[in-house]
Amino acid sequence: MAEKAATAPETRPLVPHLTLGETRDQDYLNGSRCKSCNTLYVGPRLFCGKCSTPGQFENVRLASEGEVHVFTIIHQATPYVQAPYIAAIVDLKGGGSVNTNIVGIDPLPENVRFGMKVKMFTEKVSEDREGNSYVAYRFKPA
Ligand SMILES: [Zn+2]
Repeated sequence: MAEKAATAPETRPLVPHLTLGETRDQDYLNGSRCKSCNTLYVGPRLFCGKCSTPGQFENVRLASEGEVHVFTIIHQATPYVQAPYIAAIVDLKGGGSVNTNIVGIDPLPENVRFGMKVKMFTEKVSEDREGNSYVAYRFKPA
């Protein structure tokens, strides 16, 4: 009977467009730039939606700073998710837009504005039964 070898718990990104460094302040969002038309996408990409070129992408490191493009305040969330919270799309400096939550401020309309400068940070958000940790990104006012 084969026995599964025990492996040391790992720290893993919650989404594929987050690259983890040695420490949380080295984490960054990754993207793909089409080598044919220069269009920038967040995360890995197989096909360019703008020029229809498959497979010619350069991996790029995206900025950790950006501006709130649009936001909403969620009052009714799924079970185990604490509401209210601020859901937003952030336009990253230099290109790329990400869905994220804005934290570090009370989730009130008067506390958020379009174009507000924000900065990414990462933190452990969960752990699985094998002890692996999962890290997610969020944004807070810069
Ligand atoms: Zn393209």
